[in-house]
Amino acid sequence: MIFEEHPAIGKPDHCAGLLSTSGIQELGLKLPKDVIQNHVSGARIFSPSGKSILIERGKREAFVVDRIAFDRWLADKAHHTGVQIKTSSQVTKIVNNETEWIAHIKQKESKEKISSRRVVNAEGVRCYISRSIGFYSVPRKSKMPAYQFELKNVDAHEDLVEMYYDNRVAPGFFCWLIPLGERRARVGLAARDYSKIRLKSAISHHPILKKRLRNATVERGFGGIVLVGKPIKKTIGSNFVVVGDAAGIVKATTGGGVILGGKVARLAGKHIAQSLEADSGGQTHLEKFEKIWRKSLMNDLRLMYLVQKLIGSLSNKGLDSLIGDAADLGLVSTVKKEGDMDRQGRVIAKLLGNPKTFLAGLKAIRYLRIPL
Ligand SMILES: Cc1cc2nc3c(=O)[nH]c(=O)nc-3n(C[C@H](O)[C@H](O)[C@H](O)COP(=O)(O)OP(=O)(O)OC[C@H]3O[C@@H](n4cnc5c(N)ncnc54)[C@H](O)[C@@H]3O)c2cc1C
Repeated sequence: MIFEEHPAIGKPDHCAGLLSTSGIQELGLKLPKDVIQNHVSGARIFSPSGKSILIERGKREAFVVDRIAFDRWLADKAHHTGVQIKTSSQVTKIVNNETEWIAHIKQKESKEKISSRRVVNAEGVRCYISRSIGFYSVPRKSKMPAYQFELKNVDAHEDLVEMYYDNRVAPGFFCWLIPLGERRARVGLAARDYSKIRLKSAISHHPILKKRLRNATVERGFGGIVLVGKPIKKTIGSNFVVVGDAAGIVKATTGGGVILGGKVARLAGKHIAQSLEADSGGQTHLEKFEKIWRKSLMNDLRLMYLVQKLIGSLSNKGLDSLIGDAADLGLVSTVKKEGDMDRQGRVIAKLLGNPKTFLAGLKAIRYLRIPL
């Protein structure tokens, strides 16, 4: 049984909707047409002074999805396999009774208590439920406010994402343009603070973005919290599992959490089912789940976190140096050949192992703005 506090699944949305084609395939999902807004083949990354590198794979690298439609479609699939989904139902409290959990649910005009042998906490970045039972939660320093606009009449490539690194525009993170097709785009920004004001200012003043959006009009604006940290220390408690953003399972380099969060959540589902079937020792199945997902993903997540920390600490000179050197030193070709949108750890390890790209990193580190 799933409880969702809002009246409609997927709403309000906060996501940019960029999901790797390979990740969707690995999750065994075949997206319907009405969920897919566009396909993109790569990204152009801009430095503060306007230098850029193009990372294009010559194939459909990622889907741009309508996140509301995506969540609804997933919920529909779950419903058809027997999951009960209760909307307008907020979990206000969970209490452990040795053998079971009691969840307190607040509905529009009523309250109810539901008992359950297992609880999965998928509450997203807020981590209210985790904190209320004294469990590990995502720290505030890992959270960055973000804001996005959807616009029409945009003059940009229809199959390339653009990323703008510039500390005057988005300190600590970056600004993005994701084409939605038919000259529409999602333009957003995450930063340490004032994301909406910074985004408005970027649209008016950033030399490249300003050009892209000179004829554009805003259709809607929406905000959210991007995570840039590491996963929480433990994702299982006694008959209790935390998944998704609530567990901090995101790529710190981009804040993307749908694919990796989805993979870990699926694995959790499998092991929870096994733990329920076991006559005794159900907890060992949960422990196995924790071990398996960490073994498979922690290296990637850790390396992505380190790279984000480094990039987020560079001054504009450092960002210019890194992006300027990237093409000459083979960084772009390595990323093209070895890159994986979701598991970036392998390519990061490869780059660190290459003396030329390692040197480019060292050169850029001279321009650290704040200590790591
Ligand atoms: C601006 C922005 C852009 C992003 N772009 C991308 C992207 O392009 N690609 C990508 O992969 N990821 C992206 N992400 C990250 C992605 O949105 C998250 O990683 C993903 O949504 C996490 O899924 P989740 O199910 O863990 O949490 P959520 O999607 O946040 O879902 C949590 C749900 O729990 C409900 N809830 C919370 N508390 C309670 C309660 N007490 N009772 C009942 N219901 C409750 C909420 O209403 C919500 O529906 C982006 C995030 C932001 C902020």
